[in-house]
Amino acid sequence: MNNQQQVTRPVFSVVAPVYNEEKLIEEFCHRTVATLEPLGEPFEIVLVNDGSRDRSLELMYALHLNDPRIKVVNFSRNFGHQLAITAGADHAGGDAVVVIDSDLQDPPEVIPELIAKWREGYQVVYAVREERQGETWFKTTTAALFYRLIDRITSVNIPSDAGDFRLMDRKVVNALGQIREHHRFMRGLSVWVGFKSTGVTYQRHARKAGTTKYPLRKMLKFALDGITSFSYLPLQLATYMGFIVAALSFIFILIVFALRLGNPTAEDAAFYGQASTLSIVLFIGAVQLISLGIIGEYVGRIYDEVKGRPLYIVAEALGFEEKEHTNVTG
Ligand code: UDP
Ligand code: MG
Repeated sequence: MNNQQQVTRPVFSVVAPVYNEEKLIEEFCHRTVATLEPLGEPFEIVLVNDGSRDRSLELMYALHLNDPRIKVVNFSRNFGHQLAITAGADHAGGDAVVVIDSDLQDPPEVIPELIAKWREGYQVVYAVREERQGETWFKTTTAALFYRLIDRITSVNIPSDAGDFRLMDRKVVNALGQIREHHRFMRGLSVWVGFKSTGVTYQRHARKAGTTKYPLRKMLKFALDGITSFSYLPLQLATYMGFIVAALSFIFILIVFALRLGNPTAEDAAFYGQASTLSIVLFIGAVQLISLGIIGEYVGRIYDEVKGRPLYIVAEALGFEEKEHTNVTG
């Protein structure tokens, strides 16, 4: 493209994390450009390569050479979806920043609807999944349960059925830029920062090619990050359990005492038996281990924050002439 486009400051930035999406990245860029071009405003597409091991990066370079509005942030390794989004937003220069998956599950054609709401004055516009195609029963059910749980136990009202596909005003992006926590749950943080928000519904498609990069293990970690970064409830559960068990054992002692006083010679197996003693000890032991594990989840996260490592390392950033990214770390 010409130089004119290269130096114009973008009004819209589209941020897309890319992890092994060689089959889809070109189509994603073509469809996004085709959607944004008719709007007649300068735009940029910020592709964040999150340590892909396939040909994604090569294709991204080619896309950038062909159209300088397509910019590339290349991570030194895989840092994960949430950090890829963070880096993209950090590098984006637009007045409105749209975060979207690069696997075409979120159709780029919805972006103009988000922009229309932004023009009405909303600073965060969520794309809410009206229907999810091609997702397993397990994924949709666990997702629904998770959002209900997180809504109950946290003070942030994370819209259920909204993923990371959303538009954020420059002010929101700047506010998020100040949050440098490691275990970030972006969809919670973008609610936490406040601002005027609304939702736009869309149909979430099935993945067009490739497979999900969120196996069960990553989904669990993601869910735990969401809960631990917005709620202390799991930590308090140990206290609640402690009180409940203390109350029950007190009642139990009273019963044993009363029975013993009533019948001093009884040799009831229930009171002297090892089975009941053992099951109670095992139960309390299990509760204690679970509580320790929960504390461990928090301590590990505190440790990660205290180390103060950068959130991500950028190996190279292509196409960001205006904003000099001498600082390659986040
Ligand atoms: N992704 C990423 N890093 C990762 C995992 C995923 O950048 O470690 C990207 C991926 O390329 C995609 C988006 O994040 O654009 C969402 O991932 P995916 O489609 O695998 O998740 P799902 O839609 O199945 O929840
Ligand atoms: Mg996907």
